[in-house]
Amino acid sequence: MSVPFIDLQRQYLRVQAEVDNAIKEVLAGGWYIGGAVVTEFEQKFAEYIGVDQCVSCGNCTDGLELLLRAYDIGPGDEVIVPAFTWITDAEVVSLVGAKVVFADILPDEFTIDQDSLESKITGNTKAIIAVHLYGNPCRMEAIMSVAKKYDLKVIEDCAQSAGGTYKGKRLGALGHAAAFSFYPTKNLGAYGDGGAITTNDESLAEKLRLMSNHGQQERDNHIIEGKNSRLDPIQAAALLIKLKYLDQWNDRRRAIAAQYTSQLSEMDGIICPQPSADHIYHIYGIRVENREALKTHLSHYKIQTAIHYPKALPELAAYSHLKLSMHQYPVSGNLATQELSLPVFPELTDDEVAEVIRGVGLFFEK
Ligand SMILES: *Cc1c(COP(=O)(O)O)cnc(C)c1O
Repeated sequence: MSVPFIDLQRQYLRVQAEVDNAIKEVLAGGWYIGGAVVTEFEQKFAEYIGVDQCVSCGNCTDGLELLLRAYDIGPGDEVIVPAFTWITDAEVVSLVGAKVVFADILPDEFTIDQDSLESKITGNTKAIIAVHLYGNPCRMEAIMSVAKKYDLKVIEDCAQSAGGTYKGKRLGALGHAAAFSFYPTKNLGAYGDGGAITTNDESLAEKLRLMSNHGQQERDNHIIEGKNSRLDPIQAAALLIKLKYLDQWNDRRRAIAAQYTSQLSEMDGIICPQPSADHIYHIYGIRVENREALKTHLSHYKIQTAIHYPKALPELAAYSHLKLSMHQYPVSGNLATQELSLPVFPELTDDEVAEVIRGVGLFFEK
């Protein structure tokens, strides 16, 4: 038996009839940018997250960049981001001309450490990007109280956490605004790129709608400069179908994670993710000392794994000019050397999950 790390075709086959129909309707309708289907998705997604406003956009990277610009963050300003995440969170800060400042992450939750965060605040700090990494929620209460104390904006990066919760509320409804990714491998994935911003701030949403459509209030009336960042109706139509299944799919991820944790946490040499009812396991990352050996061993059993991520952001060549010492980010540095992601997509079968557990078990028995 071989176990893929992810197989997007399986999910497509489960919703094929519905998705094909919805996409055909868009094609037959003759309206291919914006329009009723996109508006309907924005409304349903806002409702699902529990916010007043959803502004769709081209991808999560655009969403975060648009948010920083909408908050007038630019040269001279600083934005704090976790030292361990996907590069987007740092990239967007540089894109708007502001200075990226890294904070370390929490040892077992892998989300931004509120003490490290507070220690990085200066008179120039304007915002925090709180990433719900792997689908596990940040400690939003602590982050919001630090933000309040220093009058900072909190932007949630929900790229890995669509459908996740924190103390009974959906992620994406907790900060001042949030950005989502509908990249195909995410928990809510489109058939191409896609993104959305959620917020309860109506005037912010209005500004974002302008900014993502060349600053046009109505046709040819450009009241500011913006850019082009849109969710296609074809993608919106597919996402409307998939949104109905998101909770069910996230429950399946949780069930797979529970099986892994109950079997693997007993093995010496593995640290499993801390169990949490809020976690939706975009990634199921274990920590092991000899990651490369385990990865190679599993590949011999045709079990695919991945690494998220092999380097912390300050270790990347892209940030070498900042000359940062990893002594400031010990937890991030450690995770980068130990993390190994096991397959956890909803369509994984029980037999495949058992095969992964067996494969890992054989390694630690040696
Ligand atoms: C995928 C991802 C992004 C980027 O999303 P795009 O839609 O590809 O721009 C941003 N942040 C995190 C944490 C991600 O995992």
